[in-house]
Amino acid sequence: MIVWNDLSAAARVEILQRPAATAYPERGADVARLIAQIRADGDASARALTRRFDGVEIGDLCVSTEEFDACDAQLPEALKAAMRAAFARIKAFHGACAPTAVALETAPGVLCERIVVAIDRVGLYVPAGSAPLPSTALMLGVPAMLAGCKQIVLCSPPDASGSVHPTVLYAAKLCGIETVVKLGGVQAIAAMAFGTQTVPKCDKIFGPGNAWVTEAKQQVSLSADGAAIDMPAGPSEVLVIADRFANAEIVAADLLSQAEHGPDSQVILLSDDAHLIAQVQAAVARQLLTLERADVATQSIANSRFIWVDTIETALAVSNQYAPEHLLLNLQHARQYLSQIRNAGSIFLGPLTPESTGDYNAGTNHVLPTYGHARAYSGVSVASFIKLITVQTLSAEGLAAIGPEAVTLARAEGLEAHALAVQKRLDLIGADAPVEPVRPSTVASVLSLVRPDFLGFKGYSSARMEASTGATFLNANESPWPPFVDSSAAGNALNRYPAPQPPQLLQRLAEIYAVPSDMLLIGRGSDELIDLLTRAFCRAGVDRVLTMPPTFGMYKVCANVQGAIVLEVPLLPEQNFAPDWQAATRGLAAGVKLAYVCTPNNPTGGVVQRSDLVAFIKAALGRAVVVVDEAYIEFSDAPPAPDLIAEFPNVVVLRTLSKAYGLAGARVGCAIARPELIALLRTLMAPYPVASPVATAALHGLADLAQIAARIGILKSERVRLALALSSLAGVVKVWPSAANFLTFEVADAKTTYRALAALGVVLRDVSHYPGLAQNLRVSVGTPVENDQFLKALVEALASFSLPASKEAA
Ligand SMILES: *Cc1c(COP(=O)(O)O)cnc(C)c1O
Repeated sequence: MIVWNDLSAAARVEILQRPAATAYPERGADVARLIAQIRADGDASARALTRRFDGVEIGDLCVSTEEFDACDAQLPEALKAAMRAAFARIKAFHGACAPTAVALETAPGVLCERIVVAIDRVGLYVPAGSAPLPSTALMLGVPAMLAGCKQIVLCSPPDASGSVHPTVLYAAKLCGIETVVKLGGVQAIAAMAFGTQTVPKCDKIFGPGNAWVTEAKQQVSLSADGAAIDMPAGPSEVLVIADRFANAEIVAADLLSQAEHGPDSQVILLSDDAHLIAQVQAAVARQLLTLERADVATQSIANSRFIWVDTIETALAVSNQYAPEHLLLNLQHARQYLSQIRNAGSIFLGPLTPESTGDYNAGTNHVLPTYGHARAYSGVSVASFIKLITVQTLSAEGLAAIGPEAVTLARAEGLEAHALAVQKRLDLIGADAPVEPVRPSTVASVLSLVRPDFLGFKGYSSARMEASTGATFLNANESPWPPFVDSSAAGNALNRYPAPQPPQLLQRLAEIYAVPSDMLLIGRGSDELIDLLTRAFCRAGVDRVLTMPPTFGMYKVCANVQGAIVLEVPLLPEQNFAPDWQAATRGLAAGVKLAYVCTPNNPTGGVVQRSDLVAFIKAALGRAVVVVDEAYIEFSDAPPAPDLIAEFPNVVVLRTLSKAYGLAGARVGCAIARPELIALLRTLMAPYPVASPVATAALHGLADLAQIAARIGILKSERVRLALALSSLAGVVKVWPSAANFLTFEVADAKTTYRALAALGVVLRDVSHYPGLAQNLRVSVGTPVENDQFLKALVEALASFSLPASKEAA
């Protein structure tokens, strides 16, 4: 046992030295000679070298279709099943980690993008030194497959019979790899780097290997016409940090699992518990005796270090200095130390996490930086198989915006030709050239605004989504019986889960709103859809939501809940609370993802001009989604916003049955948008937003549209009557023009008036806390009788604090 605190600075460095690679001074020259041979004679040399090093005669270098087909029958089903399951997990995790495209406007009209392009031809090296490594074939094959590389070549050394092990072939098959070459060692690397008659030349070579393979990879990566490589490599290693809660047998097993890789593997244990270290040392000695590969493990255990440290923090500092390929934190509160780790290839957190699952089937990759390279390198992932290409596009507006500064910067560097390349274009567009920005209007431009982690997101797949037709439903753990009480009025089959989007209601709403049903998403009121949109588009602390107060409060609340940044552009009271479109348009450039336009607006009642709305939507194309909340549209004569969606994919319209349709208690609201966006939003919501009694009630409520229209007609004429009556009252300072089923009006003292009305049994909404609406109250238009009651009470209330009741009297 080594006591860290007793060591001098020099001794500390010394103790963390990796064992020097087996000294063999001629290796470089030997490898160079072998590579030259393959370059000169291709397949013939590859065969000759295989005869010399692997002791086998290979005919065809490539694995034949027959050999491929045979691997299935040669393997036990349990092994194949385990490989398939590992494949699926590796695929899931690597897919989720894959780099995504980015599009960002850095200035108006300056579009910067990053596109993801796979490396065309890649070579995977799967060693088979002492045992075939199908796991490595999966670890390299899966990300290559996910990246979409056009050509994938897999090289693995032939066994004594001249074939590649069936497990490796089975792994290649799972990854869709068709070209498997029976070559190992330097021959394989040289053949993939430079190509031979049968082995295609590769652009980048991946995979672990012994010192010869590593040297060959380094040499081909330095050759101008060679190939790139994944990372520098060295022998495998593990560092375990354990506290007194760790089980010594388990720690010993973890150390030995690494030690059995090869005689030059290194294992290190750091602990703050000397007793544990002694126990682990004893357990290692005991377990060694039982291992089949005891000879290998014994050699590498000779390089091991058992180090006592005063605290776990010291252990983490030592580990960061060493930068292990594998780091096991066998600690009681392992996660709490995660943030202190700076250098490691892969981390195994907590006492129940064996390194082996990372090696095989947890989903992470096992091709990791060794030999201290974890200080600067990462393990293999989809990113290793792709290139990130940047794209920039300047419109006239963009050129005018940043061109002059580019000229200044170019001249400061004395690069006149650079300056001219800009200046000539500036001259071309001229001072008065049209600078109307052209923005993408494809649905993709909107989907690209969705939170990046949600693209391709698979939502919960409910039983009812998976199977909606059938005779005997035994798939959703429902009760087979309906409730005892008669529930037929609430819609039958209450014991069954409802359809995620009840088809009859969906159809009915599609008719009423005159849009195809795949453009509709029904939610638990439009409130739920506001929340959903916020979640879909806004990352906490990054993305912005633009609202125009005074307006519906839920926009801001949902943004706050999500942690999105709220940008408020107040309506203009001096223009009857019309939006400040100029300020709102400027706001769009500042990372706004969702912009809410409520029309008619609650609580001011005004509608926006169609031409203003269209201009705003246009300015938002490719930048933000404009949510047009039409909760009160039925009470206005405004043209419906869903008509805009065909031309502008960045429009989402909200409708509700709560206001004009008299169904506030049912909680039914709709989002109307492009089908692609609707489909994406559906994946983000809980599976059954519309309960069956709700669907039934809503359908009943929507049965007679003529009666609904008649009621809307009454409310509209009552609105006019109320507005006139209110304006005639001396105590009423102002009645705002309203196209909704409410009126907002100003009095001398909103709070007192509110209370006086409440005392008389009439409850309004005190909106005086809204910006610009000090001393305002909002009254919903009721039945003619209710409205009379309200007017009478208001006259009484105003009189009670001794204001003349009518303007004539004043
Ligand atoms: C009432 C209201 C809503 C909420 O509608 P529900 O469908 O009942 O959730 C949405 N937007 C505005 C502007 C509202 O006034």
